[in-house]
Amino acid sequence: MPALPTKLPHTGTTIFTVMSALAAEHGAVNLGQGFPDFGADPALLQALTDAMAAGHNQYPPMTGVPALRQAVAAKLNSLYGAHYDADRDITITAGGTQGLITALHACVGAGDEVLIIEPAYDSYDPAIRLAGAVPVGVPMTADYRIDWAAVQAAITPRTRALVLNTPHNPSGRVATADDLQALAAIAEQHDLFIVSDEVYEHMVFDGAQHESVARHPALRERSFLVSSFGKTFHVTGWKVGFVAAPPALSAAFRRLHQYTVFTVHTPSQHALAAYLADPAPWQALSNFYQAKRDTFRTALAATPLKLLPCEGTYFQTVDYSAVSDLPELDFARWLTTEVGVAAIPLAGFYQRPQERRHVRFCFAKREDTLAEAARRLVAGLGR
Ligand code: PMP
Ligand code: GLN
Repeated sequence: MPALPTKLPHTGTTIFTVMSALAAEHGAVNLGQGFPDFGADPALLQALTDAMAAGHNQYPPMTGVPALRQAVAAKLNSLYGAHYDADRDITITAGGTQGLITALHACVGAGDEVLIIEPAYDSYDPAIRLAGAVPVGVPMTADYRIDWAAVQAAITPRTRALVLNTPHNPSGRVATADDLQALAAIAEQHDLFIVSDEVYEHMVFDGAQHESVARHPALRERSFLVSSFGKTFHVTGWKVGFVAAPPALSAAFRRLHQYTVFTVHTPSQHALAAYLADPAPWQALSNFYQAKRDTFRTALAATPLKLLPCEGTYFQTVDYSAVSDLPELDFARWLTTEVGVAAIPLAGFYQRPQERRHVRFCFAKREDTLAEAARRLVAGLGR
């Protein structure tokens, strides 16, 4: 057999898969990989059954089921004051991951540089490399704010795009209106595309609002807005999301989408379209997760872990330096095998090794799961 060529010679198995496997092997409470351990709304599941029974089982239009595109456009336009056209500017994708990689391939090519804000979700780096471009990591500040001076300093004549993620995985930080102003100024000055990962758009706490690129006309016109129903409706396994982008960007996106994915699971799209008729479920999401955040933080206060701010997402990052000197991956393994709680080391979100001692817990879990995790952490880490 000939050698298999690889475009990703230094890329291993994603940390989420590694930690979930370790958690399963050791019977640990899995607060690593981000997914709910509770069910979706029965009404959504019924809508899926209904869609299949109604015969929605063949290829949908290449860009997505019209009713779903219309529901998405209506929501974006009313929430963010945008003007996306359902037919022209919205494409249904196989989750956020596909939206991200296709958007990146649509706007960058060989030799281009793409800025990613580190810690950065782990699919950005390989997606950029597969496009022949170079990911350039720009570190956040020590308290996980975007460092706009560092972003500006990282720009070269080859910089073509920036990947924004707010609410931010893993830190749980949420970008402010000032952040988006700063981004708009830089993007205009250097003529950059923005790939905006907003999969946690409906999980923002303490009365703050999500700053979508769709709210800012100067950003909207150069942005691919990526989101995912998996997060919003507790169905990460459905892998249905969308990309909203202005006409030229959507046209470029669809040129690739049609030959890499073509279409996305039809009945799920019908179910989501019907379910989106009622705004209550996504409107309730921030309060729902804020309560889980508060429960989990209160429980962790009895451990020596230092809780970092959590403004959005369903992730709580902690500093464990009072407990251990182990590097992050080693600590996450130890926590999983010895304490019985799986976490994600933030090291998985950087190109280069870090000095920090931070791991991320997912609190998208039932009360009893969070209580059992807290019990093990209190017992295993002492005070
Ligand atoms: N972006 C971020 C920041 C994520 O956390 C995730 C995963 N949950 C995704 C993208 C991918 O979303 P999906 O599962 O819909 O592909
Ligand atoms: N986005 C989820 C997380 O950050 C997991 C997605 C995955 O497993 N690739 O945990």
